[in-house]
Amino acid sequence: MIKHFPGEKEGIIGLFEDIKGLGRDIRKYSEAGGKVDMSRFPQDFPVLFKTYSKTWGGFLDPWIKDPKLKGIISALWGYFGLPPSKLSCFYYAIPLMGYLSEGGYYPKGRSQAISQAFVKIIKAKGGQVELSTPVEKILVKDGAAYGVVTGKGRKITGRVIVSNANAHDTFYSLVEDRTALKDYLARLEKYSISLSSFQVFLGLKKDLVKSVGLKDSEVFFEPGYDPEAGYAHALAADVENGGVGLTVYDNIYEGYSPKGKNTLNLLVLQGYDHWKKYEEDYRKGNKAEYKKEKERMADILIEKAEKALLPGLREAIEVKEIGTPLTNWRYTRNYRGAIYGWDQTLDNSGPSRLPHKTPIKNLFLSGAWTSPGHGYGAVIPSGLECFAAIMKEWA
Ligand SMILES: Cc1cc2nc3c(=O)[nH]c(=O)nc-3n(C[C@H](O)[C@H](O)[C@H](O)COP(=O)(O)OP(=O)(O)OC[C@H]3O[C@@H](n4cnc5c(N)ncnc54)[C@H](O)[C@@H]3O)c2cc1C
Repeated sequence: MIKHFPGEKEGIIGLFEDIKGLGRDIRKYSEAGGKVDMSRFPQDFPVLFKTYSKTWGGFLDPWIKDPKLKGIISALWGYFGLPPSKLSCFYYAIPLMGYLSEGGYYPKGRSQAISQAFVKIIKAKGGQVELSTPVEKILVKDGAAYGVVTGKGRKITGRVIVSNANAHDTFYSLVEDRTALKDYLARLEKYSISLSSFQVFLGLKKDLVKSVGLKDSEVFFEPGYDPEAGYAHALAADVENGGVGLTVYDNIYEGYSPKGKNTLNLLVLQGYDHWKKYEEDYRKGNKAEYKKEKERMADILIEKAEKALLPGLREAIEVKEIGTPLTNWRYTRNYRGAIYGWDQTLDNSGPSRLPHKTPIKNLFLSGAWTSPGHGYGAVIPSGLECFAAIMKEWA
């Protein structure tokens, strides 16, 4: 970056020193296990002290002046679903450092392999996993949760209930008696909900990636350098003017696709509001208008990818599957098809994020809608944190 923006050299060095310092301070703070002398906080945790109430944009501002460079450094904003002006600085700075120093990972066997690995452990420890079994009710008596009722009408009781379903459904549809939850629900109402996504999965009948010579595994194609504009396009489902993310699975590991073929994904973040008008019909199975709209959007993205990255793409398509925010809702039940739970704003990240413990005794939350947040790197620790919260209660 210094080579491309020599005038910003000092700022670039200062910014990355601050990011490293933030990482050090956070590690030190969590190792202190709550035993921190608050009167010495500014001296002991200098970077944390000066940045804890900053957005990522606020963190960048003192160091970087060129808006183009700001856009480049913030190019991964899509992983966190908010632009620099809204995103908590922790949620950008710490993962960015992780990506730069350790890289990113994709599981061999696809993300399904992670779920299978968990199932193996659960079963080996005497647990049970039931697929296609929605929970329809969380049973609560005298302010304490004691079981669930499944869609098949089965009642299962337990000493604690952990809901990994989204927080909205947990409290607005699974828990029936909400009289004692007034303040808690008022708090939830204040949180904004993350974006959803629109994706096109493509199977190509030939190895186009090799013939074009594309070497990367993930490319974000953006029409400009302004993440705030990118966010506005995503929110408005404006695929015409926005960018597109391309994942090239065959460049992640060899043998991903059948020999001589390719598997690709085109993805954009997307607001749910655009799809709201199709919701009722979609739920009833009347999908004609909805299908027209998803095909229209997919077409635009395919054209963008073809022009910018993969000439000959349209001709090479053998299989096409399109996923919309409504598809996300259908398969994960996440409220408004949200892919990252609540937004990671300053008001709702770090220590302010919705905790695992809920006002209903013995009912805990795990996953993207609670602490620390979304993404595999956060939801797996979320399960561990939740377990620790339960153990603390039992102790
Ligand atoms: C297109 C896309 C790309 C992504 N890419 C990445 C990436 O590259 N890296 C990354 O780290 N993260 C990525 N994410 C985000 C990541 O997938 C989520 O943050 C993560 O899966 C959230 O995990 P979770 O356990 O909180 O919830 P979920 O994965 O949503 O799991 C919740 C589960 O609960 C089930 N459920 C809901 N309601 C009920 C009910 N009433 N009864 C029974 N079961 C119920 C759902 O069916 C679902 O299986 C991506 C997300 C999307 C949509």
